[in-house]
Amino acid sequence: MGLVVQKYGGSSVADAEGIKRVAKRIVEAKKNGHQVVAVVSAMGDTTDELIDLAEQVSPIPAGRELDMLLTAGERISMALLAMAIKNLGHSAQSFTGSQAGVITDSVHNKARIIDVTPGRIRDSLNEGNIAIVAGFQGVSQDTKDITTLGRGGSDTTAVALAAALDAEVCEIYTDVDGVFTADPRVVKKARKIDWISSEDMLELAASGSKVLLHRCVEYARRYNIPIHVRSSFSGLRGTWVSNEKPEGDAQVEHAIISGVAHDVSEAKVTVVGVPDKPGEAAAIFRTISDAEINIDMIVQNVSAAATGLTDISFTLPKTEGRKAIDALEKSKAGIGFESLRYDDQIGKISLVGAGMKTNPGVTADFFTALSDAGVNIELISTSEIRISVVTRADDVNEAVRAVHTAFGLDSDSDEAVVYGGTGR
Ligand code: ASP
Ligand code: MG
Repeated sequence: MGLVVQKYGGSSVADAEGIKRVAKRIVEAKKNGHQVVAVVSAMGDTTDELIDLAEQVSPIPAGRELDMLLTAGERISMALLAMAIKNLGHSAQSFTGSQAGVITDSVHNKARIIDVTPGRIRDSLNEGNIAIVAGFQGVSQDTKDITTLGRGGSDTTAVALAAALDAEVCEIYTDVDGVFTADPRVVKKARKIDWISSEDMLELAASGSKVLLHRCVEYARRYNIPIHVRSSFSGLRGTWVSNEKPEGDAQVEHAIISGVAHDVSEAKVTVVGVPDKPGEAAAIFRTISDAEINIDMIVQNVSAAATGLTDISFTLPKTEGRKAIDALEKSKAGIGFESLRYDDQIGKISLVGAGMKTNPGVTADFFTALSDAGVNIELISTSEIRISVVTRADDVNEAVRAVHTAFGLDSDSDEAVVYGGTGR
C-alpha cells in the first residue's frame, strides 16, 4: 500500500464535529496500511471572515499582511485535526506550508508553487506519523515571506505534495459526491461522473465549474497524478480524474459530452465605434494586458459600411471591470473609439466533451436546446472540445437545465446530494 494525499475542504472541517469525523476517516486510511498526508483548508468560512476583518481596518490591505492573516485559518484547522487524531490513539504532526516545503514565487495573494521539498513530511511519515499540512500557503523563495496561492488554493497544495511525494492518488474530499455533469445546486438531475479525462476537467474548470480549481487540475495533468474527488460525508466512490482512462474499470463509460458548466462571475465590456483598420484591436488589448487583466471571450462585429466603424466586445472577471474601464478611458484618445459599455448582468454556459470533435451534430443540438428554452445568445466562443455562449444572467440556470436535458445527461436515479458549503 502506498502513500495517499487527502485534502479536506473548509465545509468538511467546519466545526469540532467535522474535524472529528475527518480524523476518523484519516485514521481509517492509515489502518488500511497507507501512509497518509492530509491537507486541510480553513474551517468553514474562516477565510472570508478574515478578509472582511482586514477590510474593516484597511480598505486595501497590504498583500504581505493579508497573507500572514489568511494563513492563520489553515493553521487552526491543521492543529485541531492533529489533536483529534492523537485523541484516537494515532500519532500525527501538523506542518505549515513553509515547513512542508511549499516554495512559491513572491506574488502575494496569488503565488505560484515553484518547488516542493517535503523532507520534513517524509521524515514524519517514516517515523510512523500521519502528516497534516496547511493548504493554500507557502513561502517565497526570494523574500522568505509567507504567501497564499489564491482562493481555493488548498487543492493545488494537495496535488503538488502528491507529485513531490510520488503518491498513488490525491483524494480531494468535498461537500458533494464528486464531479457532476452540471452544478448539482442548479441541476437537481445532475449525474455523478465516474471518470473524466484531465483534458475535459480542465475545460470544465476554466468554464466556471467550481468543484476543482483549474490550477490544481493543470498541475495533476503535468505530473500525471490521478485525482479522486469524493465526499467526506459519505463513503461513496467519487469521480476519478486522470490523463488516461483507467484500465478494466467497468464503471467507466465513454461519454461524448462530459458536462455543462456555468459562470456568472464575468462581465462584458463593449468598445463602441472602433475604426475598422489594422492596429485597433491590438491597441485595445494591449491596454487591457498592460493593466494585467485576463480576458475570456472576444467578438468583433462586422463594421457598418456607411461609417467604417465597428464594435468590439470582450468578457472579463467582474472583479476586474472597474480597472478595465479606467484603463480604456485613459487611452481613449490614442485608440480612437467612441464610447464604452459595461454590462455585469451576463452569464456563460459551456458544453464540454472531447467527443464533440468527432460528432458534428453537437453544435446544432446545443443551439436548438437554447432556442427551445427561449434563451437569447449574445456571444459565442468555441474550442475543439467546448462550446460557450454568453446570455443574460437571469437565463443561466434555465439554460443549463435545458442543455443538460437535451444532451441526455439527466440522471434517472436519486437527486444529487449537496452536503453543505457553498460550492467552493
Ligand atoms: N481557505 C482558502 C479559501 O477559502 C483555501 C481553500 O479553501 O482551499 O480560499
Ligand atoms: Mg475555503
